[in-house]
Amino acid sequence: MSFHIFNSLSRSVEAFIPLDPAGKKVGFYCCGPTVHDFAHIGNFRTFVFADLVRRYLEFRGYTVRHVMNITDVEDKIIKRVREQKTTLREYTGTYEAAFLDDLNTLQCLPPTDLPHATGHIAGIISLIEKLIARDIAYKAADGSVYFSIEKYQGCGCRYGQLVKLNFEEMRVGERVSADEYDKQSLADFALWKSRVPEDGEVFWESPWGQGRPGWHIECSAMSMALLGPSFDLHLGGEDLAFPHHEDEIAQSEGAGVQAAGKRFVKYWMHGAHLLVQGKKMSKSLGNFFTLRDLLARGFTGREVRYLLISAHYRETFNFTLEGLEGARTAIGRLDECLSRLQELAGAENATPDAGLVARFTEALDTDLNVSAAWAVVFEWVRETNRALAANGISAPQAASSLASWARLDSVLGLGRAKVDGPPLELSALLDERQAARKAKDFKRSDAIRDELKAKGWMIEDTPKGPRLKRL
Ligand code: AMP
Ligand code: ZN
Repeated sequence: MSFHIFNSLSRSVEAFIPLDPAGKKVGFYCCGPTVHDFAHIGNFRTFVFADLVRRYLEFRGYTVRHVMNITDVEDKIIKRVREQKTTLREYTGTYEAAFLDDLNTLQCLPPTDLPHATGHIAGIISLIEKLIARDIAYKAADGSVYFSIEKYQGCGCRYGQLVKLNFEEMRVGERVSADEYDKQSLADFALWKSRVPEDGEVFWESPWGQGRPGWHIECSAMSMALLGPSFDLHLGGEDLAFPHHEDEIAQSEGAGVQAAGKRFVKYWMHGAHLLVQGKKMSKSLGNFFTLRDLLARGFTGREVRYLLISAHYRETFNFTLEGLEGARTAIGRLDECLSRLQELAGAENATPDAGLVARFTEALDTDLNVSAAWAVVFEWVRETNRALAANGISAPQAASSLASWARLDSVLGLGRAKVDGPPLELSALLDERQAARKAKDFKRSDAIRDELKAKGWMIEDTPKGPRLKRL
């Protein structure tokens, strides 16, 4: 089998076949954060999902260019800049740095490119000019530029590819200038917003006067600038399907920059939302968590990552702190098994178990069926523990098991537990105790044992000799 995914465009599961004639390179765009605040764990469900998709494509042998934009100018950001009497760059810089930190804590691979909307203003303007030249966009009386859905449809294009829309509700000439709106506000949307006093110093010069770009056109311009007018895969949370992604398709295909018969994007993937205790996260309900809130409660990025990828991406996920405790237990079991394998394997090198890797691959090939993939992982842990208990694992087998885990983990991204070894001076004391025992100086040897104990370490005898273990 090959990798199959649910394509939101066709609303069906399709084989993933990249545009690259050599079938090797994949262009992948994920809508990045709007850096107006710390990202919450709902946001991170989507970004960890994107990381899983990228890792799996790489596991499947593709060379992935993974683009994630930073939305650093948009309605909410402008509002906060105004309220806090700061500058755009200073304000967004703080939250962008926090976001990248959090992404790292969650063990996400850094995207190949992190374009900023404010770094692509010229490309945005030129894309709007193309739409005006094709008569699909127009300048309104206030100097803002809007996308005309009627004109776009008149060119034989279809608006409403990702979601069903009721055009009866739409009245010609009606406009929506907000970056976020719902289906009820189906109307011409803003590509360029003319400067108003509330924008303060946040503006750029353009052929239509001073102003700033709309949110949707930012993603069209950045994705096509880096991945070309047609690329393989576009991903985001389900709330972005309309209007954001629908508008991205309309702007990008409306500009007529694709080769004949080619789409803007071949596959669209949308991740379902995360709820907390069954409810939409909200500060007023007290069920709102940033990653930092969870770290402050003593959880690790690995545990949060595990929990976020434990459910299928198209299922709404109910986050609870008890679920996070469960993640801790599950990872603990895995870590325990891995550390025992490590003790046995020593420095041996080996190849992964092909059968195990094949079962894991088959699970993820099926539209990233993580539940089936985790079942493969934990069945392997169970069997390994059984064999370990029966002393039935040789060093080469243990090494092969570890190599298998390394292969699976290139997708899961959990890594190994960071175990703090004993400080150097304590290892030296252990050596000294060994020497004392050899010399039958048991008084000294017992004194060293007590000293180590007082420092929180006990001596454990293993087939490879004594080692220090935390009390
Ligand atoms: P934003 O920074 O608001 O543009 O959102 C960044 C990403 O997080 C987008 O892909 C959203 O679809 C996604 N997102 C927002 N809320 C949630 C949620 N509760 N669960 C999962 N993804 C979310
Ligand atoms: Zn976007």
